[in-house]
Amino acid sequence: MTKKYDAIIIGAGAIGTPISYELSKMGYKTLNVDKRHDAGEGSTAGSCAIVRAHYSTEDGVATAYEGMKYWLDWEKYLGGVKDEKGLSKYMNTGSILIKSQGHDWRKVQRHYDAVGVEYEEWTNEDVIRHVPVVNMYEYWPVKRPEDPTFFDPPTNELEGAIFCPEGGYVNDPALSSHNTMRAAENYGAEFMFNVKVVDIRSENNKVQGITLEDGSRLDADIVINCGGPHSFKVNQMADGVFEGCNIKTKALRHEVMHCPSPQGYDYLNDGYHMSDGDIGCYYRPEVGNYFLIGSEDPDCDPQEWVDPDEFYSGKGEPGRNNQLTKAQWKAQCYRLGRRIESLQVPEQPKGVVDLYDCSDDWIPIYDKSDLDGFYMAVGTSGNQYKNAPVVGRMMAELVDAVEKGLDHDNQPFQYELKYIAGRKIDMGFYSRKREINYDSSFSVNG
Ligand SMILES: Cc1cc2nc3c(=O)[nH]c(=O)nc-3n(C[C@H](O)[C@H](O)[C@H](O)COP(=O)(O)OP(=O)(O)OC[C@H]3O[C@@H](n4cnc5c(N)ncnc54)[C@H](O)[C@@H]3O)c2cc1C
Repeated sequence: MTKKYDAIIIGAGAIGTPISYELSKMGYKTLNVDKRHDAGEGSTAGSCAIVRAHYSTEDGVATAYEGMKYWLDWEKYLGGVKDEKGLSKYMNTGSILIKSQGHDWRKVQRHYDAVGVEYEEWTNEDVIRHVPVVNMYEYWPVKRPEDPTFFDPPTNELEGAIFCPEGGYVNDPALSSHNTMRAAENYGAEFMFNVKVVDIRSENNKVQGITLEDGSRLDADIVINCGGPHSFKVNQMADGVFEGCNIKTKALRHEVMHCPSPQGYDYLNDGYHMSDGDIGCYYRPEVGNYFLIGSEDPDCDPQEWVDPDEFYSGKGEPGRNNQLTKAQWKAQCYRLGRRIESLQVPEQPKGVVDLYDCSDDWIPIYDKSDLDGFYMAVGTSGNQYKNAPVVGRMMAELVDAVEKGLDHDNQPFQYELKYIAGRKIDMGFYSRKREINYDSSFSVNG
């Protein structure tokens, strides 16, 4: 007999788990299906899990600032549920946004003021007092180490930074998804692992359910694509959905480096999350007293668009598979080495490679689709882990409103934030039908 659910969610990562949690709380009978062995073991496991409020749009800032409030009280969010694996921890280091030509920080500051984000303005001296290993010289524009001018001595100084005390990172992003799964199960949600969705069935432009690789069929009136870097493949399984999206998604390979902290500096316990557009890097503390160094996708770096199946199977060519490359190791570590002259960069790369589910304008798609009952929370573009609890609630309310008859494409759902009083997000901002949003930074900064 075919089993029937109210909603089937494809994916049990950072995005799929809070959606089922919130739908279950609203009384929906949900099932998450995932081809991995456990929650959060897709690209979420490779996330840097940084929680910061700076985005290039006001809605982006508001959503991220709202998200921060959930991380600051994770136990409350989970409703007191226990997890046999333990709970993930929010490391509230504070977040330093360096004022540089690599970031439109004035725009960010305007958005902070409009949204009411708590922040301080720091001088160069303040930054050095808090992070004594850094210098505050300007190295702009971002270059690759092969560039003959890479090591030229700097001549200018930067202009200080904007410090957001509520920022930080989550110590174990896969565990946070596992926690959310346990919280969802508390409301009756079901999860199925090691199963691959191969088809999305529909009739008369209405979704019917999914078919798994072994041929079994599961029925639901609602199916939600939370497939992460596979999102475009999942959309292609559903009649007319991919074609109906003005904004598309694809998988972008991204390398994150773990480089030892300079001797004598306890970065793990004393450090901050920093966004440093001047050298095209973001960094935060990592276990073992390492600097975790991500790239802000400067123009001089190649963009590696890959087939997610090839990437995860490890079959891709060097630079397209899930192994770090020496060239990018050098680029990211040497760039940080300009900011921190005492940084010792080992020969052997260490870190993580994973995929962004990147949209055309680096802003996600949280929307319905052209197929009735089929929804998507995709295109998270390397910057939506922090927003996951907000996305869960926002998507659940959107689904509920559309299922009850809202014409969301013409009268976009207005989501009322729960922590930032009196502020609504017009969900048309995240529409699949939008034109490319040129306010975006077109980078991981969103
Ligand atoms: C290297 C890296 C660093 C990042 N750093 C940050 C950061 O610092 N801060 C931040 O806010 N964001 C960050 N992000 C982004 C953030 O981690 C992602 O936006 C988020 O984790 C995406 O979650 P997801 O649930 O959409 O995807 P995933 O975690 O990939 O989950 C999708 C799931 O769908 C499953 N699936 C796909 N297709 C099928 C199918 N056909 N059948 C069954 N299951 C299927 C997969 O197995 C997978 O488990 C980063 C991302 C990466 C890759």
